[in-house]
Amino acid sequence: MSEEDEEIVKSVVEGTTPSYSLESKLGDCRRAAAIRREALQRTTGKSLAGLPLEGFDYESILGQCCEMPVGYVQIPVGIAGPLLLDEKEYSVPMATTEGCLVASANRGCKAIHLSGGAASVLMRDGMTRAPVVRFNSAKRAAELKFFVEEPANFDTLAMVFNRSSRFARLQSIKCAVAGKNLYMRFTCGTGDAMGMNMVSKGVQNVLDFLQNDFPDMDVIGISGNFCSDKKPAAVNWIEGRGKSVVCEATIKGDVVRKVLKTNVAALVELNMLKNLTGSAMAGALGGFNAHASNIVSAVYIATGQDPAQNVESSHCITMMEPINDGMDLHVSVTMPCIEVGTVGGGTQLASQAACLNLLGVKGADREAPGSNSRTLATIVAGAVLAGELSLMSALAAGQLVKSHMKYNRSSRDVSAVASS
Ligand code: NAP
Repeated sequence: MSEEDEEIVKSVVEGTTPSYSLESKLGDCRRAAAIRREALQRTTGKSLAGLPLEGFDYESILGQCCEMPVGYVQIPVGIAGPLLLDEKEYSVPMATTEGCLVASANRGCKAIHLSGGAASVLMRDGMTRAPVVRFNSAKRAAELKFFVEEPANFDTLAMVFNRSSRFARLQSIKCAVAGKNLYMRFTCGTGDAMGMNMVSKGVQNVLDFLQNDFPDMDVIGISGNFCSDKKPAAVNWIEGRGKSVVCEATIKGDVVRKVLKTNVAALVELNMLKNLTGSAMAGALGGFNAHASNIVSAVYIATGQDPAQNVESSHCITMMEPINDGMDLHVSVTMPCIEVGTVGGGTQLASQAACLNLLGVKGADREAPGSNSRTLATIVAGAVLAGELSLMSALAAGQLVKSHMKYNRSSRDVSAVASS
């Protein structure tokens, strides 16, 4: 470390230079990260030796993805596939440290492929944001609700909303009154972006506009949780959020036996007792599946999605039925809230963009804006279908514990790893 950098480290440790100001002061993001890291190690007395600093483009995250970086966490990326979906093959990147997961999804992909592939339908595409506004009376809150729901007024509000972006297009506003408070759930198309920033900008425009006709409207928060972002909520499960996708496949009986090592009747019974009845007994909200969240999280991290949206994006009901006189299995996943984008957020970072590129959905689709992100949503659903098939089969065949002991438990003695 140069003498000059050593001096800066000391001033950060002493508190005379705020750590957050290093990037703007130095104009060099890698150098800022190195100095912050050294200062952190000195103040905490803890080593960051295992956390890499080199090999990352710190300029690419400035003002967009992460503040005050000191390095980056490495997560291995495995490939499941090919997933044969809507007559195309996809190699699905999954970033995970859970042994068995990629292998399991891969086995599900194989079963789907050998059975002729899966098919998906995107039923709805709209990101939501719901501000909460307050009045002095419930009557006034209801008056705004009726105003917003009037078709002619809606058209004006849509015009105001749409001015905020070339791609955001207002679709609807769903209102809910709680006493003097009104929650307005705006839904809009967001092209290839996941759309949270986009929808928030449009909503802000509309609120400013509404203030002219409703000067007594007090905007309490641009997000009033009727949206509902990153929290389990019935409104998402019922109305959808982001992309709503259903994906299905017919798995041939001999594929169930030879690849999945179980039989159609056992799978159908397990699905009924676990994913449907068991989840009902648990009071599940959107969790009528075996492990949709496992696949959603791994694909989200690999492709630069917002991983916290895994909460509602993993809402899924898995259905299994015997068909062709019980010879074959019809399996489907219905996922009302897949929140994905191929532009914005972490999608433009080099490693995440490479994974999107592998799927053929990198960046904005210039000819048909929105088609890249919609394809990505169907791939997520297809990968979940594969994951559901494989885990349910392992459970039905009683293989789960055995395979996790083989692939998910290190033979190393973890108690010997000391903390420093
Ligand atoms: P964004 O990067 O804020 O907006 C997308 C940008 O890409 C816009 O500038 C848009 O143009 C442009 N664009 C170019 N081609 C496009 C195309 N084909 N389709 C759509 N947009 C295109 O991304 P965002 O998805 O709205 O927001 C994502 C970020 O929000 C993530 O980082 C996520 O973590 C974060 N987030 C925010 C909140 C929040 O409350 N604000 C909540 C959760 C997550 P225009 O300028 O014309 O629109």
